Amino acid sequence: MRISFHGAARTVTGSQHLIQVNGSKLLLECGLFQGRRKESYERNRNFPYDPTRVDAVILSHAHIDHSGNLPHLIKKGFRGPIYTTPATAHLANVMLMDSGHIHESDAAYANKKRRRGQATIEPLYTMQDAAEVAGYFRPVDYDQPFEAAPGVTTRLVDAGHILGSAAVALDIVEKGSKFRLWFSGDIGRRDLPLLRDPVLPEAVDYLIMECTYGDKAHRDPRLAYEELRQVVSATIERKGKVIVPAFAVGRAQELVFDLHQMMDKGEIPPIPVYVDSPLAVNVSDIFRAHPECFDDETREFIRNDRHKAALGFDHLVYTRSVEESKALNRRSDPMVIISASGMAESGRILHHLKNNIGDPRNTILIVSWQAPHTLGRRLADGERRVRIFGEEYVRRAEVATIGGFSAHAGQAMLLEYAQVTGGSLKGVFLVHGEPGPAEALRRGLAQLDLRQVYYPDLHEGMELR
Ligand SMILES: [Zn+2]
Repeated sequence: MRISFHGAARTVTGSQHLIQVNGSKLLLECGLFQGRRKESYERNRNFPYDPTRVDAVILSHAHIDHSGNLPHLIKKGFRGPIYTTPATAHLANVMLMDSGHIHESDAAYANKKRRRGQATIEPLYTMQDAAEVAGYFRPVDYDQPFEAAPGVTTRLVDAGHILGSAAVALDIVEKGSKFRLWFSGDIGRRDLPLLRDPVLPEAVDYLIMECTYGDKAHRDPRLAYEELRQVVSATIERKGKVIVPAFAVGRAQELVFDLHQMMDKGEIPPIPVYVDSPLAVNVSDIFRAHPECFDDETREFIRNDRHKAALGFDHLVYTRSVEESKALNRRSDPMVIISASGMAESGRILHHLKNNIGDPRNTILIVSWQAPHTLGRRLADGERRVRIFGEEYVRRAEVATIGGFSAHAGQAMLLEYAQVTGGSLKGVFLVHGEPGPAEALRRGLAQLDLRQVYYPDLHEGMELR
C-alpha cells in the first residue's frame, strides 16, 4: 500500500490523502486549500493526480477544508462513490452550495474589476456543480463495516468534532499482509455541546492524525461562555455591533445556543442575532434530522417537547437575500452578525467588515482557527491596517478572540489519542497542523516513547505494509 499526502501536509487546510492499494485508488478527503490568494488558486485548480482514476472517496466530515474541492473533483471526471455518514452528506450538501455561491460571487467581482485585455476568471465551481455532489454520496452509518476498495474493510467511528464527523478505520489485506490504518479526521473534544465524545483508536498499526492544536492546552468551554458574555455586554454598552466570521453551520449554532441562554438568564439584554447567509436551508432542520449524532444528554433534552425550541436554533434570524443583508448595514442598533466565510477571505462577511471596521464601538469576534495570510488571521494578529476588496482600511473596531469554542482536540487529548491500545503502533503521521504545533506534539509523543513519528511534506509518499 502506498499513501501520498497531497494536502493538509505541513499546513492545516486542503486535506487530501491518496491511498493506492490492490490496484485501486482511494482518496481520503478532498478539501479546499485556504491561504494566499495566488497559491490557493493554483492548488485548488490543479489536482496532483488524475481524478478520473480515483475509484472512491472517503469523507470524514463536512468542513470545507475537508470537503470543499469535491465539486471540482467531479467536474474533472471523478465518477466513484463518496462514502460518509448520513449527517455529513446532509450537511456537506448545504455547505458546498454555500461554497459554490462564494466562488461564483468572487469570480463575478474579480471580473467586474478586470482590466481590458485580462482573461475572464471562471469560478472554481458553481452552485450547480456543488449540487451534483449529492448524487455521489453513499451514506454509511457509524460502525457499519463496508468494502471501500478490494481488500479494504472500512468503518466510520464518531470523531466528536461536528455533527456527523467520523474517524476512519481501514483494515487492509494486501499480498498476504494485514494491517489497520486509522485516519483521525479532525478530533473533537470531550463534553462539547450536543455531540458524543471522540472514539479512541484501537489495535492500530498506522495512525494518520491531525495536530491543529498540538501545542495548546484548551480552555474550558465554560470559560468561553463567560468570555462571550463579557465581549457582547461591553459591545452592547458601547452601542456597537459584534461581527463574527464563521460558517452558517456548526459554530453559529453553538454561539446562538450560548447567546440564547444568556438572554434567557438576563445576563445580557435581548438583542437580535443574525446569521447572514445565502443558504436557503434552515440548518436547525439538519441538526434535528440527525438525532443519531447526539449525546445522551441532548437526546434527553429534546425528548421533552418544551425544550425543542430551547436548542436555540429557532432564535436565529436568517438573512438570505442581498437586500436583507445590505439592510443590516444601515442599522445602528446593537446586534450580533455571524457571516461566512469563516476566515474572512470571501463572502458576505467582507461587506460587514468593510462597513464596521472603522467604528470603535464595534467588535470583530474571532471564534475559530485562522489560516496564515487570511484576513481573519491578520485581524486576529491585531493588524491596524488591512485590505478589504483591494482597498486599505484602518481598523478602529476592537478585535476579540475566544479560543474555548474550538471543536478540535487540544494537546492532552491528542496525546491520549495516540496511545493506541494493543501496542501494535508502527508509525504516526502528523497532518493538518503547522510546524510549531506538530513539533510540540512530536516532543510530547517522544515522552510517551512513541518515536516513529512522521510529518510528511506536501506530495510526499510512503509504502506501508
Ligand atoms: Zn473540521
